[in-house]
Amino acid sequence: MSDLRSRLKDQNLFRTDSFINGEWVKGDSRFDVNNPANRSKVADVADVGAAGAKQAVKAAAAANLEWRRTSPFERARIVKRWHDLIMENQDDLGVILAMEMGKPLAEAKGEIAYGAGFVEWAAEEAKRVHGETIAVPTPGARGWTIRQPVGVVSCITPWNFPSAMITRKCSPALAVGCPIVIKPAAETPLSALALAELAARAGFPKGVFNVVTGEAKHIGPVLTQSDEVAMIGFTGSTQVGALLMEQAAKGIKRVALELGGNAPFIVMDDADVEKAADGLIQGKFRAGGQTCVSPNRVFVQEAIMGDLTEALAERVKKVKVGDPFEEGVQVGPLIHDKAVERVSELVSGAVSKGAKIVAGGKSLMKEMGGSFYAPTLITGADMASSLAVNEIFGPVASLYPVKDEAEIIKLANATPYGLAAYLYTRDAGRVHRITEGIDFGMIGVNAPMVGSPATPFGGMKQSGIGREGGKWAAEEFTELKFVLLSGIDE
Ligand code: NAP
Repeated sequence: MSDLRSRLKDQNLFRTDSFINGEWVKGDSRFDVNNPANRSKVADVADVGAAGAKQAVKAAAAANLEWRRTSPFERARIVKRWHDLIMENQDDLGVILAMEMGKPLAEAKGEIAYGAGFVEWAAEEAKRVHGETIAVPTPGARGWTIRQPVGVVSCITPWNFPSAMITRKCSPALAVGCPIVIKPAAETPLSALALAELAARAGFPKGVFNVVTGEAKHIGPVLTQSDEVAMIGFTGSTQVGALLMEQAAKGIKRVALELGGNAPFIVMDDADVEKAADGLIQGKFRAGGQTCVSPNRVFVQEAIMGDLTEALAERVKKVKVGDPFEEGVQVGPLIHDKAVERVSELVSGAVSKGAKIVAGGKSLMKEMGGSFYAPTLITGADMASSLAVNEIFGPVASLYPVKDEAEIIKLANATPYGLAAYLYTRDAGRVHRITEGIDFGMIGVNAPMVGSPATPFGGMKQSGIGREGGKWAAEEFTELKFVLLSGIDE
């Protein structure tokens, strides 16, 4: 067993049971959580199965009326306390995250702060849920809208941001008055359970905040199909998102889906090549390339292909790979060995069709004893190769030469995904034409990262439905009701 508990300043944050109706629940069986950097066991965690999921949904439904009637100012205070506790425990939460997921410790702590930013924002927004008055055609009548919480929300989250994908989704739901049931990814339940411990300390009433751990195939249908569940908030792959949407359709339940991406990273010939290279390194190698907004297809105008390749090669060769707890490491292990095998196949497939490896291009599993893959730079891959068509989800940057704006827009849009895109140019005309021409929910211009608590996060096409972040998040978790009053002022 790993030494995670002993590394924590507050050992009560090491929780391995589900959190249901304010209690820690053991379940009938357990599953292992492993450290991808060395494959050692970190913990065994409760599998509460369908029965536990039902218990959690029932508890959330029972807490619903009280929580929605709680003053928004009181809800704001509790959510803000949760934020404060998360930040006070940033170091421990970072250690838990780095050990179960494998991102470097500094980056893991950064994720905790990023995720906490959404909690703080949601606490502030709890006080700003507004309706409107509307002029109606009937003489003497009045019309107005009110916004009310949708009810119990199931939140199903992925392993690549074990903390922030929970806080970004759950804090606005909680703030506007929705009780929640979270099902974290099997690889990374410990971050979710530590957040539950802090939620309990923050003072959420019993049943408002629940975390169920265990096998998705048993827990999932309860969370998508129980009568008491009003909405499903999901972050994860497009494939699972489609399945959950299908399950939710039976009860016409509301869905908010944050799904996969295939981000173009476009570098125009007027761009600052050094800044574009820095930006790509920052965006691409974060979380070892395992993010939904990770640059996946780097489109480079032909005139600067040589310069950019050179600038990148120099940088990629210097990216430090290693244990997440080692000082200066920029890329940790991938989530598990299968992920390394998948990335290896994508790369070898592209090479077999003529791609050239400029840097990296190999598994480091044997030499490093964990799920490591070398930071990689590739040129000359076929646009039809699996490497270009699929989410790479690994530390591999692949460059594609392009001629002009028309070709760039066409190629960028030649994917069923539409989450994030990046554009490097200093020409204002190009900024407008390209950002308006490409179908992506978020576009960073001369900026390699797009998410913040203030701004809308979400995708078009098969990358999802709905937006998290900013004022839009509260709208996702509220119903808009219209009231027509007549017969009073006649
Ligand atoms: P995943 O396989 O879709 O899993 C995501 C979550 O869904 C996990 O909690 C998983 O549980 C659960 N799940 C799987 N099958 C289920 C089922 N039949 N019923 C109910 N729940 C089920 O995705 P992942 O591999 O964890 O995450 C990577 C994907 O997430 C990538 O495609 C990435 O682009 C996407 N992502 C999107 C965003 C965004 O904001 N758009 C952010 C981050 C990640 P188990 O772990 O127990 O299987």
